[in-house]
Amino acid sequence: MSDDRYRSRSFWLDDMPGPLDPRPPLAGDSQVDIAIVGGGYTGLWTAYYLLRLDPTLRVLVIEKEIVGFGASGRNGGWCVGELAAGPDRHQEVAGNDAARRFLHQLFDSVDEVGRVTEAEAIDCHFAKGGTIRLARNAAQLARQRQEVDHHQGEFGLTDDDVRLLDGDEARGHLNASGVIGGLFFAHAAALHPTRLVRGLGDAVERLGATIAEQTAATAIEPGRVVTDRGTVRADVVVRALEGYTASLDSHRRTLTPLYSLMVATEPLPDDAWAEIGLAERQTFADDRHMVIYGQRTADGRIAFGGRGAPYGFGSRIDPAIERRSRIHDLIVATLVELLPSVKDMAITHRWGGVLGVPRDWFPSVGFDRQSGAAWAGGYVGEGVAASNLAGRTLADLITGTDSPRVDLPWVGHRSRNWAPEPLRWLSINGALRVMGLADRSESRSGKDSRLARGMWRFLR
Ligand SMILES: Cc1cc2nc3c(=O)[nH]c(=O)nc-3n(C[C@H](O)[C@H](O)[C@H](O)COP(=O)(O)OP(=O)(O)OC[C@H]3O[C@@H](n4cnc5c(N)ncnc54)[C@H](O)[C@@H]3O)c2cc1C
Repeated sequence: MSDDRYRSRSFWLDDMPGPLDPRPPLAGDSQVDIAIVGGGYTGLWTAYYLLRLDPTLRVLVIEKEIVGFGASGRNGGWCVGELAAGPDRHQEVAGNDAARRFLHQLFDSVDEVGRVTEAEAIDCHFAKGGTIRLARNAAQLARQRQEVDHHQGEFGLTDDDVRLLDGDEARGHLNASGVIGGLFFAHAAALHPTRLVRGLGDAVERLGATIAEQTAATAIEPGRVVTDRGTVRADVVVRALEGYTASLDSHRRTLTPLYSLMVATEPLPDDAWAEIGLAERQTFADDRHMVIYGQRTADGRIAFGGRGAPYGFGSRIDPAIERRSRIHDLIVATLVELLPSVKDMAITHRWGGVLGVPRDWFPSVGFDRQSGAAWAGGYVGEGVAASNLAGRTLADLITGTDSPRVDLPWVGHRSRNWAPEPLRWLSINGALRVMGLADRSESRSGKDSRLARGMWRFLR
């Protein structure tokens, strides 16, 4: 199989030193203690912590393509201690104390990724510079003010965690156009996502795990995984497929795959960076509803992405969507509008990948000891740090290790199934349209969009 088939999937995969040759596939029927389906962060962090807790376990990771083929090899590299279903939702299901503990566990996961990658010599360009979220209209600024007040008041965060910035302070982080203020969130690092996931693959092999690549699971059942290369019997089967979950017949409506698309510029010269900023490699965004996200890469490029690609009927995952030029063009236009000085820089890479989205935007980590079924995912585009916490939690649950993680609000959380088609297609693509319209109306009027507020309520 050609290396290009993988390199073309993202700037990060293309940027990997050395060949991306697949490891050998499963050699036929086999028996292990733990079978993990999916070779991304979730599967590999789970394998890593399982083997740290019990080095005698026979752990097999089953990956359809190569480690890092999925979102873990294509994302924006924001390692950020937060989740889309924020602390208010966690408080609703588990109370204030649990919501606060969850926040601090998420914050700590950013540092844990830094600690482990250093200990395992995974050179993933980890730089903990925080996140700058710009406010570029009055509605964005008002939302940020409300968020900081609320999170400090209700969940005990301080200025060291999250604080408001005036226009000058915000521009001091990132000298973008139209900035009237901003929010700085300290618990975030920029990293090279594929270096992280590929390095993790090597680390779990060093600990004794086996990784079978080019091996597709076709069914996950209690005590076994059926693959195109044989059947694996296992005491515990971990489902770690995130955006690919819907490809299993038994999980067609569990998580919806939603595309996020990205571009990378050529490396910018030092004088451009002197003007733009991001000296600490802060990750950056503004506060529009249709999420955008960027980072200054270690080699001086801008990697920048956004949502907005239409959802494919029947949860279709289609490489044609990853290359959809209209959305990439919009992303480039947004970047240039944000940072006009990059307009003459070449865009060297365009790509995309799928996020896993649960019906209520609330990720889940779980283990049913009776059936041996375990799962984690549904991070809605914020899985880089969260998957570390999920992997640690799954390892604790599976080995019966008591820890401050095993009763966090997402443990055992069950989201409703997504609606059947065509309702799913209509509601998701409708919501995407509403977000775009709300952003346009907010930048024109400066007023918080009622349409968007209604949509968020509807989405839950
Ligand atoms: C473009 C983009 C940008 C993003 N940006 C950010 C960001 O900046 N910060 C952040 O926190 N999150 C971000 N995310 C989300 C983040 O990347 C994911 O939450 C995270 O990588 C999920 O890891 P995972 O291991 O659960 O899933 P994945 O990495 O998708 O791993 C699942 C694996 O399963 C494999 N697979 C599929 N089907 C089968 C099968 N039948 N049998 C066996 N294996 C199979 C796939 O090949 C894949 O390798 C982004 C996602 C995308 C797509």
